[in-house]
Amino acid sequence: MTKTVLFSAPEASWQNYKPYLDDLFEKAGLDINLVLETDAPQDVDYIIYAPNGPVKDFAPFTNVKLVQSLWAGVETALTNKTLTQPLARMVDPGMSEGMADYVVGHVMRHHLGTALHVAAKPGEWLSHWAPPLARNRTVGFLGIGALGLYCAHKTAKQGFNVVGWSRTLKADDVVKCYAGKDGLRDVLAQSDILVLLLPDTPETTNMINADSIAQMKDGAAIINPGRGPLIDDTALLKGLDSGKLSGATLDVFRVEPLPANDPYWIHPKVLVTPHIASETRLETSAAVVVENIGRGEAGQSFLHLVDRKAGY
Ligand code: NDP
Repeated sequence: MTKTVLFSAPEASWQNYKPYLDDLFEKAGLDINLVLETDAPQDVDYIIYAPNGPVKDFAPFTNVKLVQSLWAGVETALTNKTLTQPLARMVDPGMSEGMADYVVGHVMRHHLGTALHVAAKPGEWLSHWAPPLARNRTVGFLGIGALGLYCAHKTAKQGFNVVGWSRTLKADDVVKCYAGKDGLRDVLAQSDILVLLLPDTPETTNMINADSIAQMKDGAAIINPGRGPLIDDTALLKGLDSGKLSGATLDVFRVEPLPANDPYWIHPKVLVTPHIASETRLETSAAVVVENIGRGEAGQSFLHLVDRKAGY
């Protein structure tokens, strides 16, 4: 029997996804009618979803087995109280690759002290400082889920010592893993460069605050491609101004686009990037969508389901 899959993401992405999805559904032996709109919400079996797409009220979709998000972060989706159907977040290998490019690139920038040389005035010959070896530096990851762990492995490949912190204790051959309050203290105290890849939940809000910054190494740097609310901005600016922290690379903010008068824009120790650390990639994410719908049709459990209680 033909199943109906509603694509509820901005129409521009429909042009890109439609041929890929149709082809992959066929190759997977799935009989799917992929539609951009419907007059019969009760007949829809699956929804491919982005929070900036047209569907805002999920209540009429009474037979939907899965809402598959195209976004990795689900904090916006979880504010929609009509969305009570099972929700899967996007875990996209292409997105992980892109995130690792961003993280490794900016880890190297902080490691090499690149900002110092970019800011040097003509004739300012800063030869008194050369970077230590990567193996004598520790990069800490707060969040070692799909993205954090992948990025931690890529960072370790550059020679860095890598530690990671998560809600539940992990075991990994490459990354030394920590959990809990004591674990957080250990990771903060060891890290020369700290990468934030936590989701935005009530528990992670202001994870980086005056207390946690005080526990960090003198001269440490922060890279935040996670979410803006992970950082207490006033505390970070104080940490940078006092010299406690050497720099910050920030991709995500409480308000986006970051307003032109925000102090981060002109802070000499801050690099602002406009929420471009990584994005969902067409080919790899389409394969994830088809796999999950295929699992539903085969009566298997869905991958990457959101734990609504945990908030991610
Ligand atoms: P995952 O859900 O796979 O991983 C989240 C990690 O954070 C897990 O290790 C989880 O622990 C940990 N965590 C969650 N809550 C807590 C807590 N209270 N205390 C300690 N650890 C916690 O997410 P992803 O890796 O796929 O994505 C991470 C985030 O990256 C997304 O939520 C999104 O906000 C952001 N992102 C940013 C992008 C950008 O372009 N800037 C692009 C894509 C994503 P555990 O392993 O125990 O569950």
